[in-house]
Order: sequence, then structure tokens, then C-alpha cells
Amino acid sequence: MKIGVPKEIKNNESRVGMTPAGVFELIKNNHTVYVQKDAGFGSGFFDEDYKDVGAIVLDTIQEVYEAADMIVKVKEPIAEEYPLIKPHHVVFTYFHFASSEPLTRAMLKSEAVCIAYETVEDEDGTLPLLTPMSEVAGRMAIQQGAKYLEKPIKGRGVLLGGVPGVPPGKVLVLGAGVVGIQAAKMAAGLGAHVTIMDINMKQLRYVNDVMPSHVVTEFSSEYNIRKRIKDHDLIIGGVLLKGAKAPKLISKDMLKEMRPGTVLVDVAVDQGGCIETTKATTHENPTYIIDDVVHYCVANMPGAVPYTSTLALTNVTLPYVLRLANQGWEVACAKDASLRKGLNIVKGKIVYEEIAEAFNWSV
Ligand code: NAD
Repeated sequence: MKIGVPKEIKNNESRVGMTPAGVFELIKNNHTVYVQKDAGFGSGFFDEDYKDVGAIVLDTIQEVYEAADMIVKVKEPIAEEYPLIKPHHVVFTYFHFASSEPLTRAMLKSEAVCIAYETVEDEDGTLPLLTPMSEVAGRMAIQQGAKYLEKPIKGRGVLLGGVPGVPPGKVLVLGAGVVGIQAAKMAAGLGAHVTIMDINMKQLRYVNDVMPSHVVTEFSSEYNIRKRIKDHDLIIGGVLLKGAKAPKLISKDMLKEMRPGTVLVDVAVDQGGCIETTKATTHENPTYIIDDVVHYCVANMPGAVPYTSTLALTNVTLPYVLRLANQGWEVACAKDASLRKGLNIVKGKIVYEEIAEAFNWSV
């Protein structure tokens, strides 16, 4: 198969869909790989590294799309990329369709096969291609949140760990999934007081078992959230309803209940966000303030640490890329139930129900 690896063009996105190690494996399996010039540069991989393992490096994104049958990338295509996607393409990347009707309409129109990393699902309900990026984003959420709590950037001026004689800051984590647990772990490591909420008791039991005692679990309800937001300094949104829009757990009126300088990091922004006042931001301009509350809502947080993120992502995508390339998408998806769940749009038709539901369309 001919596989194309374009350079990401979304704002501040430096990750790349395949490393030279992945290209090496594909070439070993007799495939041809086209890599766009400088595609890996931001992640520390050079054109020479790709050429050394046998990739063909092409100058433009157009050439890569024209040459390839399967496109392997990282972020959902943006408007400039829509016309490049043709009916013969299989596109394997993050899509997050439920949060973008224009993207959904464009991919329907393209008649391509769209396999979304974020809905590939293992038997136990875990999302193996979302997990590593959630791990990165969860850990980063505390790093960023701690920074924006500083006074010069309009935060409350609280040091999360406190110091001897001064109590630590308080972190509220919504969602005890991958993002939530990694965030809680980092916050706890800094010495902050952490409250973590979920509606899944199994998750709360697990957190309660493995975390230190200054990480407190609490069932997620509007009542409990309203109570906690009043005295927590940093609030992390890490909830997910698979393939659907995130539930709004913090409404605009709740901002008035928070102390000025409270920081909200809505990691769930890529699924629409779990805070009513969330709107997606970029690494260039990551925050905005409403009612004296700092909002950080960067939709591609792992993009800021591309070296770690590219390796973490491609470690888990490569086995699926190899299966798609070796068997073709139809056989690979027929044989592998996890991969089949990744099928979102197939040749002009939505095949993942929650996407249609998000827009109130009938499938
Ligand atoms: P996950 O499925 O591991 O965890 C989500 C958790 O939310 C689950 O435990 C679920 O029970 C819980 N939940 C659902 N409804 C809830 C409610 N009402 N109250 C409290 N908890 C609730 O998902 P994840 O991998 O941790 O991902 C979380 C979000 O972060 C997703 O939207 C994901 O797309 C996003 N994400 C964003 C970035 C970024 O750069 N912004 C990066 C990675 C992941």
C-alpha cells in the first residue's frame, strides 16, 4: 500500500503521524511511504532519518495526498486539507467529529474512509489510541494550571504545593479517567490537596486505593461540584462520554461562585468542553478570562510536548497502521473488533451512531 505522512498544519501542532521507526516497519512489510518534507522536524525527526529507512520525501502536502492511498496523521483535517481528501483515501487520525459539524460534512462529502483514533476501543471499553495523549494532557494540565495560578498571569497567586506553615493549593479534578488520574497524580506529587470526582464508582474505588490520602474522591453531582468550586484554586475538566459531546458540569452562573483568579483547565475541550464558557484556544493564545476566572482550553495540549507525544502516540498506532496496510481497511476492520470501532465515516455515510446523535441527524 502507498502510505502518506503529511506535515500537520494546525496551529502549533508539531507532532507527526509516523516516526522513522514506524516507516521502517512499513517498508519491511513491502509498503511505500511518502513523507512530507519537514513533517517530523518539530518532533525531532529529520528528513534524512526518514530517507535512511527508505521513505520518499515529497515537498508539498498536495503531493503526499496525491501519491498515497492511506493517510496517517495526528490532528483532524482543517479546512485547507478538506479538498485534498478524495474517495480512494483511508484517513487514520484523530477526528473528534462530534465537536465539528463542518468537518463531519466535509468528510461525508469526500467519500473517504475515516478511521478515528479516539473511537478505536478495546473489549474492556478502554480507548487505546486516546490513552497516551490523555496521559500527556492530564499531566500537562497541572503544569499549565500551576503556571496560570501565578498573579502576573491573572491567577490567584497560589503556589500549589504551599510551603511549610502555609496550606497547599486545592485542585478539583472532574473525571477519574485517564486525564483525571494523571492530573491528580501530578497535583498530589506537588503536594496540593486534590478532590477527584466521577460518576463511575469503580474508578473512584481504584483512585481511592492507589492514591495518597491527600487525594479525596467524591461522587460527581451538581450539588457536590457547586460546593467544591467555591474554595478550589485549580479545576481540571477531564470527563468523557465516548464519541459524544462532553456533559456541561460547570455552568456560566457557577463562575460567580468561584474566587477571582481561579483557573479552569478544560482538557475535554476537544469534545466541546465540560464547562459552559469553554471555547477552544491555542498554544499561542491559551487563556481568556470570564468573570475573573482564567480559562485554559487548548484543544491540542500534547502538541506542546511533541517529542514525548509523538513517541507515545506512534507506539500505539503503529500496530493498527500495519494491519490496515497489510490487510486493507475492510479485512483489517472485519478481523479486528477494536479497529472496527474506529470507523466513523465510510464513503459518505456515518457509521458511528453518536456522531449523528451529536447533530440530531438520523443515520
Ligand atoms: P476517560 O474515558 O478515561 O475518562 C473520562 C471519565 O469521565 C470517565 O471515568 C467517566 O466516568 C467520567 N465522567 C463521565 N461523566 C461524568 C460526570 N458527569 N462527572 C464526572 N465524571 C464523569 O477519558 P480521558 O481519556 O480521560 O479523556 C478525557 C477528555 O480529555 C476527553 O474529552 C478527551 O478527548 C480529552 N483530551 C483532550 C486533550 C487535549 O489536548 N485537550 C488531550 C487528550 C484527551
